[in-house]
Amino acid sequence: MSERLTSGARQDEDAGEASLRPQRLAEFTGQQRLRENLLVYIQAASARGEALDHVLLHGPPGLGKTTLAQIVAREMGVGFRATSGPVLQRAGDLAAILTNLQPRDVLFVDEIHRLQPVIEETLYPAMEDFQLDLIIGEGPAARTVRIDLPPFTLVGATTRSGLLSTPLRDRFGIPLRLNLYAPEELFGILQRGAVKLGFSLSEEGAREISTRSRGTPRIAGRLLRRVRDFAAVGGRVADRALVDMALDRLEVDAKGLDAMDRRYLRRIAEHHNGGPVGVETLAAALSESRDTLEDVIEPFLIQEGFVLRTPRGRMLGEPGWRHLGLTPPAGTTV
Ligand code: ATP
Repeated sequence: MSERLTSGARQDEDAGEASLRPQRLAEFTGQQRLRENLLVYIQAASARGEALDHVLLHGPPGLGKTTLAQIVAREMGVGFRATSGPVLQRAGDLAAILTNLQPRDVLFVDEIHRLQPVIEETLYPAMEDFQLDLIIGEGPAARTVRIDLPPFTLVGATTRSGLLSTPLRDRFGIPLRLNLYAPEELFGILQRGAVKLGFSLSEEGAREISTRSRGTPRIAGRLLRRVRDFAAVGGRVADRALVDMALDRLEVDAKGLDAMDRRYLRRIAEHHNGGPVGVETLAAALSESRDTLEDVIEPFLIQEGFVLRTPRGRMLGEPGWRHLGLTPPAGTTV
């Protein structure tokens, strides 16, 4: 996938984002309902001295799934181990991790929809009964040994809960969905971020970044760091004018769309007369994978009404036409 400033997906430069990561649930902004519920579950499990039930976090990239998993461990006062679906290739890889956990630890599995089937099957008894069935040896001499595991909490993260098999999904007692953030929530994250990064960002400047961050804290953090660069090099305060200048230079427009988003919208407008057009056709024309379109590019465009997902394919909504400076054809859905 191309490296886009306004993609929610994690990129190399985001290594610096750790400093902006909230450490406790109380510092985690937004997702209010989710936060309140999670706090109840954590307090109840802690009071019982038990491991928290398994948690499934799903939502677009960059909304704080990894952050929340770390917070769960910290709030429970337990250890945190992290891995990801594609990294776990053999049952032995998983066994090594599980047998090293301390009681009540959190095991975070990112991209859990990409687990190998054999790993998934190993996980079922581990999640349900805290037992691991390992096959030792091969052929007629092969035998199964059962190992007891400490009770632990699996926190799975996925951009696509629909891709999870039903038996796996059913084993998560606490499924939580993360939604795109409101500009007001991003505003608070940005103001605290500027303090942590040690530079002065005006209120209007923060407000402008918040409306151009596609509802995604990771993008807000990334734009914030670029704005800091422009402010430092120009020897200026990051006020509204500087933010506008910086974001225009980065080709992030007033709604937070970048060149790729605009290419996507223009493709539907100009080549398909506003659609409907199938997502595969769009992916091929734009040289992006279908997953990237569905996980990274479309959630925000759909939320804002630029694009409509219909059974016959994607269609440009009225705001999409207007954003391109075009007049929607008569009968376009608003
Ligand atoms: P991915 O699925 O791509 O791993 P993610 O959803 O796990 O993404 P995180 O890595 O947890 O996202 O968060 C991305 C960045 O956004 C981090 O720098 C984190 O500090 C920041 N962030 C996320 N949520 C919040 C929040 N609610 N308040 C403040 N900062 C946040």
